[in-house]
Amino acid sequence: MPDKIKAVFLDRDGVLNQEMGDYVRRFEDFHVLDNFDALKTLQDRGYMLLVATNQGGLAKGWYTEEELAKMHAHLKQVYHEHGVELTDFFYCPHHPNFTGDCDCRKPKPGLLLQGIAKYNIDPSKSYFIGDRERDVEAGTAAGVKGILIDSDQPISTVLDLIL
Ligand SMILES: [Mg+2]
Ligand SMILES: [Zn+2]
Repeated sequence: MPDKIKAVFLDRDGVLNQEMGDYVRRFEDFHVLDNFDALKTLQDRGYMLLVATNQGGLAKGWYTEEELAKMHAHLKQVYHEHGVELTDFFYCPHHPNFTGDCDCRKPKPGLLLQGIAKYNIDPSKSYFIGDRERDVEAGTAAGVKGILIDSDQPISTVLDLIL
């Protein structure tokens, strides 16, 4: 059996793109943050980079799966142009008030568990960087070390926490 890989999971809003106070609903509101060098460093340390994001706006009908896919393709492309590969995006399309409970909305660990299973990831060697307590809780529940940052705080400031 091949060795398991290690990964850094990343929350989306407030980590990869600017936190806008609520769900980023429109493509025009999507501003990519400059974390290129920091994420390249993590890549060079052997980490796969994966995104895990709550998208309850889908359940609320604020935007469609197609619009979300467009935003994620844009995010992937901008980072790619700077030498950073965001390998996959895991998102929760649910919201308790609209679609009931689910296993994937953070602080539930479902999104991380999907990534761990899909890419044969060793959670004990992996991290989750997020700007909400619920991100850290999801990480802990998945056996991944959670790192809490402020919204839009540069990832370069926490590189020392990731071996
Ligand atoms: Mg966030
Ligand atoms: Zn969900």
